[in-house]
Amino acid sequence: DSAKILDRFEELLEKHELEKEVKVIKTGCFGLCEAGPIVIVYPEGAFYSHISVDDVDKITEEHLLKGRIVKDLLYKESVEEDKIRSIDEVGFYKKQQRVALRNCGLINPEVIEEYIAFDGYQALASVLTEMTPQEVIDIVKKSGLRGRGGGGFPTGLKWEFTAKAEGDQKYVACNADEGDPGAFMDRSVLEGDPHVIIESMAIAGYAVGADKGYVYIRAEYPIAVKRLQIAIDQAKEEGLLGKDIFGTGFNFDLEIRLGAGAFVCGEETALINSIEGKRGMPRPRPPFPAQKGIWDKPTLLNNVETYANIPQIILKGAEWFAGIGTEKSKGTKVFALGGKINNTGLLEIPMGTTLREVIYEIGGGIPEGKAFKAVQTGGPSGGCIPAEHIDTPIDYDNLIKLGSMMGSGGMIVMDEDNCMVDIARFFLDFTVEESCGKCTPCREGTKRMLDILEAITEGKGTLKDLESLETLAKTIKAASLCGLGQTAPNPVLSTLKYFRHEYEAHVNDKK
Ligand code: SF4
Repeated sequence: DSAKILDRFEELLEKHELEKEVKVIKTGCFGLCEAGPIVIVYPEGAFYSHISVDDVDKITEEHLLKGRIVKDLLYKESVEEDKIRSIDEVGFYKKQQRVALRNCGLINPEVIEEYIAFDGYQALASVLTEMTPQEVIDIVKKSGLRGRGGGGFPTGLKWEFTAKAEGDQKYVACNADEGDPGAFMDRSVLEGDPHVIIESMAIAGYAVGADKGYVYIRAEYPIAVKRLQIAIDQAKEEGLLGKDIFGTGFNFDLEIRLGAGAFVCGEETALINSIEGKRGMPRPRPPFPAQKGIWDKPTLLNNVETYANIPQIILKGAEWFAGIGTEKSKGTKVFALGGKINNTGLLEIPMGTTLREVIYEIGGGIPEGKAFKAVQTGGPSGGCIPAEHIDTPIDYDNLIKLGSMMGSGGMIVMDEDNCMVDIARFFLDFTVEESCGKCTPCREGTKRMLDILEAITEGKGTLKDLESLETLAKTIKAASLCGLGQTAPNPVLSTLKYFRHEYEAHVNDKK
């Protein structure tokens, strides 16, 4: 629909000879999926939602030609009595702070000049002309940025390990193999602001001593792949990638590698295998990629969202970034909010924002006024957090304490009607499908867990099965080779912890 809306605007602007006065900009995602397709008309900042092709005629006739805002097409919260609110004033955006997503929904991702107009490539210029590699690493360390792909490892330390590793050739890589069901933050950054990844990877290359980078991206993201390739070509044309960047003698080149849809390839060593053209299976660690990564050379691997923060940290300073968030989790985090929630979409909030703020203020509460029951964070590797913990400030450590995790940022909301045993079964079903089969605890153990869960949901389970489920889950966590197996039991363990009565009800009621 958005493509048709764009075409219709262009058609009408031409018809009314408005092309010189009004510019139509095709942007990336605004985040508020529930309200799409969205059109914002500046300078008023009129925020039109749920737009159809027919509405384009009305906006053109009324707003563009006569200067009259079309109130009945405005997003419901953006008009109060006669006051028109800008996008930043509506509930979904008010508590957000956009660092990684700052250009998404604002610039045309296919035009390098628009990225440059919003400070693009300035951080790279200042790094290459004013800083030593160690100074860059020190800024990233001081900022407190931690990996946004799931693990939460301090980014600056990772950069330092790679910089210090011995090797005539080093690589930087970007993990854009976003596989969590319901998660689309990396996709949004790549579709809405691809140059930020190129700039950031070049900065990382300079800091660790690498002249070559790979972006590993799912083939199921064709728009992201297309826009990233356009951005790479533009950056090369402008001399921002390739040889002797900014005349400093620094060389850096970037290539895209497509993933074929295996969830396990989001695991760093499996991803490295896949880049090398091998089967995407995890390798034992150590050695870590910082020592032996792509083709056994020291490799720095970060995910899309982690990289998207770097240019702003360089430009605004480590103290600025460290001033956002909580003591041990600095900055902001992007979440994909879905499930039983009014405002589904993509949001970026300072670490430390509470679950209640996300669900009721940003998310607009539960549809039909139903009761909030739980939120599943961290995708299939995460856990379910019950309503009693709704005032928990979101950060890496708090989520782990509650038996869940940050993961890449999936957030699925459940209401009073959801059966938590079914939820656990859904996620386990996913991990059983995606297990690469290399190690027995994950390959066989998760299947056995699923058998037990299926028996329970079919009314054939016993109370003894609950104990077996728990023992098996703990064994798989402890004995699996990679993160997929180590975290696969989390949805079961967290629902057993907080919603055991629902498992018991299935067993006792035999349904
Ligand atoms: Fe493969 Fe699972 Fe073992 Fe990871 S834990 S290596 S996904 S079998």
